[in-house]
Amino acid sequence: MQVTLTMPDWASAEMAQLPTHLPTLEERMAAVIRFSQLNFERNTGGPFAAGVFERDTGKLVVIGVNRVMPTTCSSAHAEVMTLSLAQQKLGVYDLGGPGMPAHQLVVNWRPCAMCYGAVHWSGIRSLVIAGSGPELEELTGFDEGPIHPDWKAELNKRGVEVIENVLHDEACRVFRAFGDSDAVVYNGRQGAST
Ligand SMILES: [Zn+2]
Repeated sequence: MQVTLTMPDWASAEMAQLPTHLPTLEERMAAVIRFSQLNFERNTGGPFAAGVFERDTGKLVVIGVNRVMPTTCSSAHAEVMTLSLAQQKLGVYDLGGPGMPAHQLVVNWRPCAMCYGAVHWSGIRSLVIAGSGPELEELTGFDEGPIHPDWKAELNKRGVEVIENVLHDEACRVFRAFGDSDAVVYNGRQGAST
């Protein structure tokens, strides 16, 4: 019995083209947004990507993308893919464990209900997002699920900083393109409320 989650074929080549270190938050987010766009355009998953970096040096650990439909796995969101890839690569289940540098997760929007939990469990010390408002759901039709009303304060209480609105408009541009396309919005129960 085994579960296998894979990145798309193009991802390794794209990763290889990136510098080893991305010093600014804008550079890190730009790389993540590019992956989100490629994933949607190449029909290899939803318009979402995430990157794990060493917070202080900008050293790139890995960038992952949404793989729900290609891997037939509803939990294969970009954040879960990326955190799992980083943990496998570094050989740890806790990215904030003993001797680890502070790790940062950069995502092209606020994590959904599930990924918020994954962030909490991952050990990252910093969460950087392009935005947290209703734009994502309005532009794409995805249902992100119920988020804790004090989600940011709850992360802060646990030593996780939250930085918002990094390349907000660039992220929304990809969501708008997705919403304007005929791509499948893979909500659970097809989004039914009853
Ligand atoms: Zn998610």
